[in-house]
Amino acid sequence: MASEIRPDDPLPIGLEELPGTSPERRELLARLGVRTIGDLLLHFPRSYEDLGDIRPITALTTGDFQTVHGEVVELEGRTLADGRCVVSVVISDDGKHVLEGVWFNQPGAGHRFRYGLRLAFSGKAKWYRDHWQMSGPRVQILDGRDSDIGPKIVPVYPLTEELRPEQLRASIGKALQKYASRFDEILPAQLRERHSWPSPSAALRAVHQPESIESAEHARRRFVYTEFLVLQLALALRRRGLRDRENAPILRNTPAIDERIRRRLPFELTPDQDRAVRVIRDDLASGRPMQRLLHADVGAGKTAVAVYALLVAIANKHQAALMAPTEVLARQHDRTLDRYLAGSRVRRLLMTGGLSQRERRDALDALANGDIDLVVGTQALAHENVSFARLGLLVIDEQHKFGVNQRARVRKLGIDPHYLVMTATPIPRTVALSVFGDLDVTVLRGLPPGRQPVRTKHVPLSRRDQVFEELRIGMRAGRQAFVVCPLVESAPGVEDCASASATFEKLRNGPFREFRVGLLHGRLPEAEKANIMDAFRGGEIDLLVCTSVVEVGVDVPNATLMVVENADRFGLSQLHQFRGRISRGKVAGECFLIADPNTPESEQRLKAIVRSSDGFSLAEADLRLRGPGDFFGIRQHGAGGLRFGSLIGDAELLGKARKDAFALVAADAGLCKPEHVKLRSAVDRCYGSTLELPEIG
Ligand code: ADP
Ligand code: MG
Repeated sequence: MASEIRPDDPLPIGLEELPGTSPERRELLARLGVRTIGDLLLHFPRSYEDLGDIRPITALTTGDFQTVHGEVVELEGRTLADGRCVVSVVISDDGKHVLEGVWFNQPGAGHRFRYGLRLAFSGKAKWYRDHWQMSGPRVQILDGRDSDIGPKIVPVYPLTEELRPEQLRASIGKALQKYASRFDEILPAQLRERHSWPSPSAALRAVHQPESIESAEHARRRFVYTEFLVLQLALALRRRGLRDRENAPILRNTPAIDERIRRRLPFELTPDQDRAVRVIRDDLASGRPMQRLLHADVGAGKTAVAVYALLVAIANKHQAALMAPTEVLARQHDRTLDRYLAGSRVRRLLMTGGLSQRERRDALDALANGDIDLVVGTQALAHENVSFARLGLLVIDEQHKFGVNQRARVRKLGIDPHYLVMTATPIPRTVALSVFGDLDVTVLRGLPPGRQPVRTKHVPLSRRDQVFEELRIGMRAGRQAFVVCPLVESAPGVEDCASASATFEKLRNGPFREFRVGLLHGRLPEAEKANIMDAFRGGEIDLLVCTSVVEVGVDVPNATLMVVENADRFGLSQLHQFRGRISRGKVAGECFLIADPNTPESEQRLKAIVRSSDGFSLAEADLRLRGPGDFFGIRQHGAGGLRFGSLIGDAELLGKARKDAFALVAADAGLCKPEHVKLRSAVDRCYGSTLELPEIG
């Protein structure tokens, strides 16, 4: 069925073409996602077993995969007290030392063997009571030909239960014979030589029937490299398509403008902010559309940088827009601008879902007529047919909420505005190179002066009451607090998980009776959310029980206390975002993570967040602990479901592929040269629809 074939399948031939593949076998393979010959050949081993590490029994060690050749000296089948049967085959290589192979619940395991037969056992050995033992070793019958026993390196594949490894290896063997040479080479000779990559067919053989682990790994890397290269070419093409248009407004900055803008900010810019501002200033004056990512740790002060850029655009008589991922944040930005721009002539507009039909229409007219200089809003600004009289700059706050696809859509607003993306979720370098690989990156690291790092503590459930007491003490002294819960409402199946609604009721009628307690979550109507945030900001609410809606951007300096319920349910980056909410003022924030973690992974996550306050190193740790799958939704957002490569293990190859890709596009902008045509069509097949690549020619 065509719909089940991946667009990037290099050999979309049905498995019925492969001799000896019964419908039953095909059904089992389909469970592994293998439906075509291409899928089958690209179904790579999870690992390899090296049968070449042959040792005498006296040299066995714990943990390594090793092989022993010996003669059967004991054979036994027995039933254990719990009813399981165990087959035991003991071999010896010197008549004195023994190695026991045991098989549980496989009554047939010993059938093929008899006393005196020479066998090879391969597996991991452990010392059991007084001798070495291997559980379920791989066995080969030596038959007097010890040195000649088939392949020494055996691939281990991801399998489903009923498909036996030898069956899968046989199918792959047949496919290799008949089809490996039909795999197209898409790499140009120059790149293949630079990295000494084998041809696709040689690489496939080396992956599935390797002569050494090293050659198998080198062959696997060929596929990883090619996959990264195609992704990075897509990003390079996209970037070129965006940057090479010289039709962006030239927004100049003069000393007078610079001074006027700085006077409006209530503080001096930090050195990092200042550096960012200078880079952006050059972009805006260049005539090419700026494509920049401002990549910062939580609380590093992105807003001020954004305001600076917005005001440069406005000073040049262009319109500017600031887009936030939520209405709460859009309103907050609007309020910040109220303060910074008090008494100025800048004509502003806050565009939210709360506008009436009429107000909306007027707002749209005003933007289209050029009666508005600066608009703040949510994604609605991009989704609807908003047209601008002369949009010069679009700033997008907390872009990671949008992903690559949405970015493509945003770009269709009108002419080519300059484009500044901000994100406060520190992204590991490798993810940045993939998700934001088409942008220039500026990093804001340092926090503004006077900011105290948050003190983070992990607290077991049993000591929650003590935490509440600490909260009450702080709140009596006038501080405000958040209690963050994973759920909005209690749900069946997750009774042990705190919900904001239930926690709200419990706290305001119990431990926090003397305080004003508020509730904020994503299911409330926007207007109510706005009211609650206003009340919290205005100090009319002391304790805000909420869900992850506080994750990004919320800036209430007096709120310096936070409790996170079931903290083990959140990812590292998310927890780091949460605590960023309470590091806004002069008083050091205190964050209590309540959890009884029940996996080693969640325990490690809590340890990491308690120990480190650096968002960038936490992001790396998060990637290592959770893998990239749910990190940025790279997969969902179309920057490539990586099939072979790992953003963790293959980071160095990613760097190489990126360098090659950008050099290739610099030399042959459309990848039109004959030696690049196949790469170009691979790029189109894999990313053409998601990344909106420019047309050739
Ligand atoms: P984020 O990068 O997380 O969006 P914000 O822009 O909200 O951070 O800034 C965090 C806080 O730091 C705000 O309260 C802001 O007023 C303050 N701030 C930003 N820049 C400076 C600065 N240069 N000096 C002092 N305070 C600053
Ligand atoms: Mg912000």
